[in-house]
Formats: sequence, C-alpha cells, structure tokens
Amino acid sequence: MKQVVLASGNAGKLKEFGQCLAPLGIELVPQNQFISEEVEETGLSFVENAILKARHASAASGMPALADDSGLEVDALGGAPGIYSARYSGSPLTGQAKDAANSAHLIANLGHMPVDQRTARFQCVLVYMRHATDPTPIICQAAWEGMIMDSPQGEHGFGYDPIFQVSGMSCRAAQLAPTEKIAISHRGKALAQLQQALAKV
Ligand code: IMP
Repeated sequence: MKQVVLASGNAGKLKEFGQCLAPLGIELVPQNQFISEEVEETGLSFVENAILKARHASAASGMPALADDSGLEVDALGGAPGIYSARYSGSPLTGQAKDAANSAHLIANLGHMPVDQRTARFQCVLVYMRHATDPTPIICQAAWEGMIMDSPQGEHGFGYDPIFQVSGMSCRAAQLAPTEKIAISHRGKALAQLQQALAKV
C-alpha cells in the first residue's frame, strides 16, 4: 500500500476518503501523526486553502498529501458563508452545538426570503500533492445543489445538512444515509474525479 497523509484530523473524513482510495492501493495516514497544529486557512478560495493544507501536511510528513476544503454558498447572500462556513456564526462552541449555531445564523440572515430565492450549493475541492513543492497538484472540484430551509430535519451528516434541501429530492442532506450521501454529494463527486485521476498516475 502507498501511504498518503490526509491533511485533516477529522476521523469521519479519514474513514470516508480511506474507503474510496483503498482500492487504488492508497492507505491514508492522519496528519496528527506528524503535526499537532492545523495550518491557518488564509486563502480567499477553496482551492487556495486546500493547497495550503496539503502543502503543510506533505512538508511535515515527507509524504504525498491529500487535502479537502469545502463549504456552503448561498446565492441570496452573495455566496456566503463560502470559505467561512465552519466559523460562520463566530460561536466558540464545537461539534454539533457549533453546527447548530452556524445553521441558526444562516436562517436568521435569510429572514423571510421566498423559497425560490433560497438556492445554495455545497462546494468541495480536493488537492493531491506528490510532494510539498509539487508545481502541478491534482485538483478536483465538485458542487451539490440544493435550497436552504428554515427548520432542521434529519439525524445524519454534519454541518448544514439538516437545513439543506437536496435538489431533485424531497429530503434534507441529513436524511440521507452516509452511503447515499457520498454517492451524490459534492465530496463524493470530487472523490470520484480524484479516483480517476490517481488511477492514471
Ligand atoms: P472543512 O472543509 O472541513 O473546512 O468544512 C467546511 C464547513 O463547510 C464545515 O464545517 C461545514 O459547516 C460545511 N460543510 C462542508 N461540507 C458539508 C457537508 O457535506 N454537509 C454539511 N456541511 C458541510
């Protein structure tokens, strides 16, 4: 198995990405085996932040690195929260409490916006760097369309999933089982692109 460091400390991502890349002979190693601090996300785009994370993890480990950066874009808010999705409410809470605070902040900012103006999408960028100064990283990007609803529903997922009404389906992202979500989500589609790109390397 070829070892690749995952530029994330998130156990859920390690499992999800690890399962998709194992058939390609890739074993993902979490970056906390090499570094304790996450890199500061100073970029102004998902791509920049994913590159910063991958470069940091590759430099610390001396191994190829995979990073992802994702977020929610709401059209009526000019694309906000975008790259600031994880810290949108400014809440010091963590985990599910922070997710709930972010969703509540978004619902408040949308106010009484009519349903047809609540369009949104999740974005995901994956970056694979062969080494820390790789000048041609593999970059995969995908989106998942939906609408922001006022009341949360569903028990699965994380982040904004309970208020994200999936386009073309009468359910929230949080009502999809993990395998159903990864088959159609921004992250799943970007991963499928990466699988194809890595199979050619
Ligand atoms: P990051 O990619 O780990 O930096 O996450 C960015 C933030 O975007 C997360 O903390 C969530 O708030 C949001 N987000 C990204 N992907 C999803 C998703 O699949 N469901 C719900 N929220 C998401």
